[in-house]
Amino acid sequence: MKFGTKAIHAGVHPEEVTGAIMTPIFQTSTYVQASPGDHKGFEYSRTQNPTRDTLQNNLAALEDGTHGLCFASGLSAIDAVIKTLKSGDEVIASNDLYGGTFRLYNKIFSKLGLKFHFIAMEDAESVRNYINENTKLIWLETPSNPMMNVIDIAAVASIAKEHGILVGVDNTFASPYLQRPLTLGADIVMHSVTKYLGGHSDVIMGALVVKDEELAEQLAFVQNSSGAVPGPMDCFLVLRGIKTLHLRMKAHCENGKAVAEYLQNHPKVDKVYWPGLPDHPNHDVAKAQMADFGGMISFVVADASKEEAIRICENLKIFSLAESLGGVESMVNHPAIMTHASVPEEERQRIGILDSLIRLSVGIEDSEDLLSDLEQALG
Ligand SMILES: *Cc1c(COP(=O)(O)O)cnc(C)c1O
Repeated sequence: MKFGTKAIHAGVHPEEVTGAIMTPIFQTSTYVQASPGDHKGFEYSRTQNPTRDTLQNNLAALEDGTHGLCFASGLSAIDAVIKTLKSGDEVIASNDLYGGTFRLYNKIFSKLGLKFHFIAMEDAESVRNYINENTKLIWLETPSNPMMNVIDIAAVASIAKEHGILVGVDNTFASPYLQRPLTLGADIVMHSVTKYLGGHSDVIMGALVVKDEELAEQLAFVQNSSGAVPGPMDCFLVLRGIKTLHLRMKAHCENGKAVAEYLQNHPKVDKVYWPGLPDHPNHDVAKAQMADFGGMISFVVADASKEEAIRICENLKIFSLAESLGGVESMVNHPAIMTHASVPEEERQRIGILDSLIRLSVGIEDSEDLLSDLEQALG
């Protein structure tokens, strides 16, 4: 099955009693048993729920994996991965991570005896310098948030494999439409479903997809033991959102290209970070591992103070000033003040999250309207 057909049909079956084509919202906490232990495969909704199961199967198919697991948020999905490790284990993570992931690693799990190394992974070989016998996981995000760095997933995975280390990829920015890490050698793919998969800015959810039975069992054990599961209504909304994932992503990519090229030629813009631009430092890797380049763009306003960058954010009218991304509507974000405020200032400067950096999530509106909005705000 091709991607668009999978988005609509994979793992989804008409409901058995009525033939309802849409997966019902099984809004129930428990299931009646005929006799103690004699049930229909469903005991309690933290453990299994038919609406969630359908979504999990659909996501597994979209990522070319075998098992999907849904969580109450993207961060609780990452939390579940780290909970398969133990005190003393070490994780090598890319340094330009989603701010919340950095906070979870640095403020919560570091306290519990896990060690994290945050490094630049654009040169995959540099990972070798941090591998030792305690290294259990390499965690990376590509394209990264907000600097749009691209990491060669296959190159990192092949080094990890030499040492029996698992590789997890946060695939939120790309979505499975643009990139499927499991096919490039990664072991775990993670999504903030909140973003492109949900696609309509109405749900908080996370997901993991794997292709290994034992790993799936370990993660399902944490999912059930920690209990950060999404409700059936949210699973229904995401199933509905995914039915247009391929159409939405195509439009995000087209608009992303138009906006990136417009910004690149604007005199008030100093730098544009979008992996589709030929002068992007990792453009060749992006071209090889992604089907297209997506709708996430960051740019630096030339010679601008923090106040000037803030004014541009405020002046945009069609781009909503908001955290989050990946919805049908365009959004603008000031990373240093908003999404990445939890990253220490010194670390932000080092990575390139300047006070004059602005991030756009380009939506699927008509591109002419987006360009004229940028024109008036930059003016
Ligand atoms: C939003 C986001 C997360 C966290 O997901 P939540 O659903 O907000 O918990 C993780 N990684 C990336 C890249 C994100 O954009």
